[in-house]
Amino acid sequence: MRRRSILLALITATSMSVFAQQDDGIMQLKEFRNPKKREVINIPNVNNYQVLKCDFHMHTVFTDGHVWPNVRVQEAWKEGLDAISFTEHVEYTPHKKDVIPGNLRSYELAKKMAAENNILLIKGTEITRGTPPGHFNALFIQDDKNLIVDNSSSLDEKAIQAAVDQNSFIFWNHPGWKAATIKGSYEWIPFVEKMYAEKKLHGIEVVNGFGFHKKALDWALDRNLTVIGNTDIHNLIAHDYDISRSGIHRTMTLVMARDRSAVSIREALEQGRTVAWSSNYLFGKEEHLRDLFYACVTLSPAYHHTASTKNGNTNYYELTNNSDLYFELELKEGNATKKLTLYPESTQVLTASSGQTALTYEVVSTYIRSDRHLQIKLAL
Ligand SMILES: [Zn+2]
Ligand SMILES: [Zn+2]
Repeated sequence: MRRRSILLALITATSMSVFAQQDDGIMQLKEFRNPKKREVINIPNVNNYQVLKCDFHMHTVFTDGHVWPNVRVQEAWKEGLDAISFTEHVEYTPHKKDVIPGNLRSYELAKKMAAENNILLIKGTEITRGTPPGHFNALFIQDDKNLIVDNSSSLDEKAIQAAVDQNSFIFWNHPGWKAATIKGSYEWIPFVEKMYAEKKLHGIEVVNGFGFHKKALDWALDRNLTVIGNTDIHNLIAHDYDISRSGIHRTMTLVMARDRSAVSIREALEQGRTVAWSSNYLFGKEEHLRDLFYACVTLSPAYHHTASTKNGNTNYYELTNNSDLYFELELKEGNATKKLTLYPESTQVLTASSGQTALTYEVVSTYIRSDRHLQIKLAL
């Protein structure tokens, strides 16, 4: 009798659960739901360094951004980023009546989710002074207690010093953002020269969102400061960037790091091993762009020959881009310019006459100065 009732109970439970699966009163309509997946941005290692995808300038509701901190982590995870930093304004908190300000509050709220999703979350803040000198990001700050909030320009130096005292990595943000409205603001001003001379300035944001600050790249290169590119995002990433199309990425800094850790990111930033990546363009020191190009692009040995009457044989090669980066090449031949686009993860056919030993291209989708592209030589 007892055995029978257990059996009966089992049958009842099983049939109930089958029933529940079949119809709980809700029909799931998941066809239009975003699949849960993380994009992989494929960039091969460069000189044994991992190329980490980082955005070191972002805002949330805790200053003038429009999203909650964990949304930033979800975005970074989906897009395949390795490291992000919330850099809330020290001196500017327009939502303070609705959201209690705190420079590291967004960090605190998102750090668990970041850890669970394997996103490196780096403590940061944006020192927001009048322009000039304007805004500076301080990464790897320890706490937000002693950051100066008084906005008077007489305290600009003290505001920087407060971040220096926390042993942070400091870069000048969007140096040309007021060039059109504040005369003399987009110059290498004495305030910045003093910071640089006192080793309190470590990098320059040469790409901010959709803007390439051309002079700023030259300043960084001439002074051996780290080249940085960030979104400075306030909205949803999907609002500002058309990430619904494949291959679209946000503006970011590619950091060549020993490993995927905050310590290694800091070491790489201090050594200046970075390239800014925005739209189809790459910006940075010549050596880094050259190493990155050769890590991504390979030339096959000649695979086919055709005899031609005048110039000897024509040799055929394949040039392969093994990365998700985009390279646009130009070859000057007399007055003519041959263009070659190496789309992400793709191959193009190259030809050269048998007497040629090398082809020299300008990679016009790179900037090694505001007015100069990387030149590469393909040995045949
Ligand atoms: Zn700013
Ligand atoms: Zn900002």
